[in-house]
Amino acid sequence: AQAGVGTPVKGPGRFPGPFRFNGRVLELSLEKAFPGFRLSVALSVAEGETLALLGPSGSGKSTLLRLVAGLLKPDRGFVRFLGEDLTPLPPERRKVGFLFQDYALFPHLTVEENVAFGLVEARWPREAREGRVRELLKRMELTPHARKRPQELSGGEQQRVALARALAPRPRLLLLDEPLGALDLRLREELLFFLRRTLKEEGVTTLLVTHDQGEAFLLAHRVALLREGRLVQVGRPEEVYARPKDPWAARFLGHKN
Ligand code: ADP
Ligand code: MG
Repeated sequence: AQAGVGTPVKGPGRFPGPFRFNGRVLELSLEKAFPGFRLSVALSVAEGETLALLGPSGSGKSTLLRLVAGLLKPDRGFVRFLGEDLTPLPPERRKVGFLFQDYALFPHLTVEENVAFGLVEARWPREAREGRVRELLKRMELTPHARKRPQELSGGEQQRVALARALAPRPRLLLLDEPLGALDLRLREELLFFLRRTLKEEGVTTLLVTHDQGEAFLLAHRVALLREGRLVQVGRPEEVYARPKDPWAARFLGHKN
């Protein structure tokens, strides 16, 4: 399935446009309490859809992503993918790709070896592996760097390698936690462009965590506003932007009153 990308509409950015609905694939209902903080969120995401979890620092975005990844155990609830209960599975068996702010590439491996890593783990046959690595390096404009080691690349190039590595095994779900967070403005824009094109071309179902509405509006088919562990509003970016549900949402989105 492909994420449909339509005509951009006016707004704070260029939205990905209407999404062709193919049925929900990811369903989650999760609760987790820490001292002084309680997360309680229910959501479903469609095949090929990019959903942005947008909220201020401390609203529980990373906690939610870690629960979906299986890096953290919920107090209650479930994560289902196409009806299959992933909740008891460890992270490595969830077929989920991660890209977090502190992406760590393997320093002793070349760029192409880094990208191939998950494919070797998943025992892809050599030819399929090489084809997939070539395709991703090309898409990320990394082909000339294939034999280099991470430390020979710029920060933006390294982050593109990390994105290619996360996508390589064709995860059924891609989890991005502030993927542009550590980059300066110019590199952010560059990676935004790659991310937008890649999410469209790969058509991978994606949960994107960000505190930056520009990023959310540019990349996501739907935006979920998170405040203090609760969903305030979920909708198309242009709807959320035009009609914030309450004064808090309006303020967070930068509306005057
Ligand atoms: P966000 O990613 O939106 O900034 P987080 O999910 O990181 O927010 O954190 C939400 C809240 O949960 C914060 O108050 C944070 O201090 C708390 N928290 C996160 N992880 C832990 C943990 N492992 N132990 C205790 N508290 C935590
Ligand atoms: Mg976070």
